Amino acid sequence: MLSYRHAFHAGNHADVLKHFVQVQLHLYMNQKDVAYTYIDTHSGAGVYALDSFQATKTSEYDTGIGPLWNATEVPEALKPYLDLVKSMNPSGKLRYYPGSPYVADQMSRLEDRLRLFELHPADVKILNDNVRKAEAHRAEQGERARGKRVIVEHGDGFQSLKKLLPPPSRRALVLVDPPYEVKDDYQKVRDALNEALGRFPSGMYAVWYPVLQRMESRQFPDKLKRLPAKEWLNVTLTVSTPGPDGIGLHSSGMFILNPPYTLEPMLRETMPYLVQVLGKDSGARFTIETGTQITGAAGLRET
Ligand code: SAM
Repeated sequence: MLSYRHAFHAGNHADVLKHFVQVQLHLYMNQKDVAYTYIDTHSGAGVYALDSFQATKTSEYDTGIGPLWNATEVPEALKPYLDLVKSMNPSGKLRYYPGSPYVADQMSRLEDRLRLFELHPADVKILNDNVRKAEAHRAEQGERARGKRVIVEHGDGFQSLKKLLPPPSRRALVLVDPPYEVKDDYQKVRDALNEALGRFPSGMYAVWYPVLQRMESRQFPDKLKRLPAKEWLNVTLTVSTPGPDGIGLHSSGMFILNPPYTLEPMLRETMPYLVQVLGKDSGARFTIETGTQITGAAGLRET
């Protein structure tokens, strides 16, 4: 089923959490000289115009990048993410918002590799166009990668992940971000990660997920904790209290397998600010949980 188009949701609070964490994961990967492969199993279109028909239909960016755009006293850790969005909008007016492939393209280095999967025929075409534009821009700046730096594939990211693991440089950052419009997606994420961890246990895997009332969503983080990764971190951001109809997305999470050791302290410093700026009512909050497979120990702290 391919009814989902991310253009309707671009820049919402869930995107802010996801892309802010993604930026941090790239910064960590960039600390080592060795190249890595970034794999995006569900890429979307790559770049979104916030004045498009889709984006303005529900103006979801008003729950996310909108209020952050002019926020002051921004914590250090949020700045690289905001700088990236600002660099796409040099006029100072918020018009474009990055998708995860664009975040990866900007945050990774010339020697790193991007492998992008997208199933929707229209979005994969837009993604290809956006990748070509970014490559042309790099070439103008005199930046030319050896070999093919970015490969876009019109295909199923769940199926394709395994064939890229382990990557040649034995370093990988994987983002798994399906629409979850069909409940099978929850199971498919777990199956794909289970297989991926079997082939490449030391990869860093980040999963975005919606926090919803449906059973598959409520059970999802606990099921991810049982995957065979050495360590995990689960962060959620809730911006408002769900109404009795359960409509709308009020909360989402990022679950990271083999997270950087720097991620938890950084999130503890930064998440209160996101709650303060994006929170709509007294239900606004964040949670951070971490655990290890070795000890089975897990600690949950939340505000
Ligand atoms: N990761 C993107 C970002 O942060 O900008 C957003 C991705 S969006 C939530 C999910 C995308 O997955 C949609 O563009 C959808 O067409 C695509 N999709 C759905 N099922 C897929 C599959 N099995 N393999 C690859 N892409 C798929």
